[in-house]
Amino acid sequence: MDLSRRTLLTGTAVAAAGPALARDDAPPAVLVSTWDFGAPANAAGHAVRLAGGSALDMVEAGARVAEADETNASVGLGGFPDREGHVTLDAVIMNGRGDMGAVCALEDIVHAVSVARRVMEATPHVILVGEGARAFALEQGFDTTPLLTPESEAAWRRWLETSNYAPRANSENTDWPGGASDHDTIGILGIDAQGRMAGACTTSGMAFKMRGRVGDSPIPGAGLSVDDEVGAATGTGVGEDILRVSGAHAVVEAMRAGLDPGAACRRVIERLARLRGDKIADHQVALLALDRQGRAGGFALRPGFTYAVTDAAGQTRLVRAESLFS
Ligand code: ASP
Repeated sequence: MDLSRRTLLTGTAVAAAGPALARDDAPPAVLVSTWDFGAPANAAGHAVRLAGGSALDMVEAGARVAEADETNASVGLGGFPDREGHVTLDAVIMNGRGDMGAVCALEDIVHAVSVARRVMEATPHVILVGEGARAFALEQGFDTTPLLTPESEAAWRRWLETSNYAPRANSENTDWPGGASDHDTIGILGIDAQGRMAGACTTSGMAFKMRGRVGDSPIPGAGLSVDDEVGAATGTGVGEDILRVSGAHAVVEAMRAGLDPGAACRRVIERLARLRGDKIADHQVALLALDRQGRAGGFALRPGFTYAVTDAAGQTRLVRAESLFS
């Protein structure tokens, strides 16, 4: 994506001060999402908002944009497969009142986020996995689609040549850290015209992961947390790290304790760094939050994390988050 076509807040990129923390002069956000591909996702969510859709409708619509984009190798169609060559999708969606649904290791269905929403609305459960999730999706009328594109298959075959079949954190980030392809999962958070909040997170997970591996993204409290009383948070990066600190939940609780979104994300990243030390020496983890007042903020372990913020007028700005390490 050509970042120059949108407003890019480059506080840290062009100056020392941090753009990742909420800016008092910024108009309240109604949608935020991870990475540069969050901008078109936010645009879809914003259109739903204008049409009177709920926060759930907004974030689902946004997440579906990334899922349908086959050039995005970390979400939905065209996602990188596991190490055995199967594309398996993880997704969660929730509102700010405890309604939630998720799917893990879903195969052959592009819109995992919409299956997750059906889990939320049409079952007594929160999470369905694997074959059961797929069978449920088919019962609900979802179509099957081969998710492995020629491009993703070629990348997997190249990886097989040198990988010794071992999954590696950030292996999808060919020019990590901070490069154009240094992005993964989409997490999207929204506030509708009634002030209700919702979030969604959808991914094909860590590239070339072990078969059956599930990261943080579909796990409530890890990849996503939403509370109408406080705000919402999501994460991207090495899911194992985010799981270890209940990342999104920890951010929401830090906001409940009074921190603004950027500071809350920073606190949890700092906690992760203290907890894991050298074990996360080459990992990227990023957290993104939106509070109920519409203040947005994010923070990352390492440089390269960008997020998209859209206000009620539909203006989107891309923000480069500050990071703990340079
Ligand atoms: N957090 C996702 C996972 O671990 C992937 C990512 O965002 O890099 O599955």
